[in-house]
Amino acid sequence: MKNKILVTRSSMPSIEEYVEEIKPMWESHWLTNMGVKHEKFREMLREYLSVDNIDLLTNGHMALELSIQALEVKGEVITTPFTFASTTHAIVRNGCTPVFCDINADDYTMDVSKIESLITDKTSAILPVHVYGNVCNVEEIQRIANKYGLKVIYDAAHTFGVRYKGRSMGSYGDVACYSFHATKVFNSIEGGAVCYKDKEVGESIARLKNFGIRGPEVVDGVGANAKMNEFCAAMGICNLRHLDEELVKRKRVTERYRERLSGVDGIQLNPEQPDVEPNYAYFPVVFDEKKFGATRNDVFEALAAEKIGARKYFYPLTNTFECFHGRYDVQLTPVALSISRRVLTLPLYSDLSMEEVDRICDIVLSCKR
Ligand SMILES: *Cc1c(COP(=O)(O)O)cnc(C)c1O
Repeated sequence: MKNKILVTRSSMPSIEEYVEEIKPMWESHWLTNMGVKHEKFREMLREYLSVDNIDLLTNGHMALELSIQALEVKGEVITTPFTFASTTHAIVRNGCTPVFCDINADDYTMDVSKIESLITDKTSAILPVHVYGNVCNVEEIQRIANKYGLKVIYDAAHTFGVRYKGRSMGSYGDVACYSFHATKVFNSIEGGAVCYKDKEVGESIARLKNFGIRGPEVVDGVGANAKMNEFCAAMGICNLRHLDEELVKRKRVTERYRERLSGVDGIQLNPEQPDVEPNYAYFPVVFDEKKFGATRNDVFEALAAEKIGARKYFYPLTNTFECFHGRYDVQLTPVALSISRRVLTLPLYSDLSMEEVDRICDIVLSCKR
């Protein structure tokens, strides 16, 4: 009986290491509300990401949602539908309108040549996504933002560990939001962080994550509860110690996939971008039915029949969600629509063995007609 393979597997430290990290809490009884672990994790991240300002949150979604609120973004926000539900929901839950920009067919990030035509007098921000850890055209996005006086909020959920021109993705945009969810390259069980430029925006996020409380008797923001607790911070601290080893292992898995699948007619692999140090977060494969002879769904089914969980990530597009029915025209993002119907992310985690990668590739290739 062959083992079931899931699309991802959470990284964890040894139980001894984690217990060592949380032991002091049985002395202090301080479990949340910006305790010792929160502050230690924050400092470690500040150093790892080489950023000046960073705050921690319960998850990546609240990082996005509270960033939009703290930046006082109103009206329309230009974003892409080729992303996780969180990105679009963060905009709509702030009372703003998402305006969907199409994506590039090769790296799946926002097609910057289409941004300017979407700008109206109601536009106040651009919210691009570094999809799969692929870096957006940050220079051009910043140029457009400066020209029109727009804020830039990066959904950097996929990019922990990625560097572009030597800088972490936390250092681009007015804010950049990371996710440390269990399924991501780096996790704190659940968790998120915001890197920000403007100190006032940071102070605002710090209050909003604690109900908008300014002082014991002053509440002047309609905040939420988005504080990272000490157990999550401790998990983040432990996992961060091992991140470099994790990335080396992920690189090995990725290289094996590339060896087996590059050059196959009808299979498009993720690009290797210039000036980018990747984090090997995902292994998306885009199928061209005419050349490959089988569809993405055929490959998905073939893998599922062998108990291998690939993921249609991102499908469906967020602008086709039931909750937005009738509100957006998906024909306006034809490239995103096409990619979403043809993409499959293959299993990828640090302990995936070469034999397992070979098995997955054999099944994928066996679908070719
Ligand atoms: C995971 C993810 C989020 C949300 O992060 P959580 O920590 O799960 O709340 C946002 N955007 C993208 C692109 C993601 O993949």
